[in-house]
Amino acid sequence: MCLFCKIINKEIPSEVVLENENFLAFHDINPKAPVHVLAIPKIHVDSFNEVDPELMSSMTKFIQELAKEMNIDKDGYRVITNVGNNGAQEVKHLHFHIVGGAKLKWGHFSDSNPKANI
Ligand code: 5GP
Ligand code: ZN
Repeated sequence: MCLFCKIINKEIPSEVVLENENFLAFHDINPKAPVHVLAIPKIHVDSFNEVDPELMSSMTKFIQELAKEMNIDKDGYRVITNVGNNGAQEVKHLHFHIVGGAKLKWGHFSDSNPKANI
């Protein structure tokens, strides 16, 4: 069973901030901003690349509710999902990072030439 499935089953503890029948949101163990929570589906899906678009529809609503719950909906935030090897996805269970609580910077994504394909 994957790490986030164990969190869903409460085999591994987490600080839950929002939950419903299909989704769970909890604090990231290694926060990158004043607000950094993870939203996951309770069914195992490897990544965004495999997710059923219909599940994404309700997950979008959950993420919007989560932003409100964290009180970052008005000031703004970032939603990130890393996909696969090049996306640097570490946990192979679909998750969205919801990051905010401060003005965010736009990152340095890669050491490769960003204009190599132009
Ligand atoms: P990824 O790199 O796969 O997009 O992000 C995985 C995220 O899960 C990382 O931000 C990491 O800090 C977080 N994480 C890894 N293990 C745990 C854990 O056991 N508990 C919690 N709450 N977060 C975790
Ligand atoms: Zn899983």
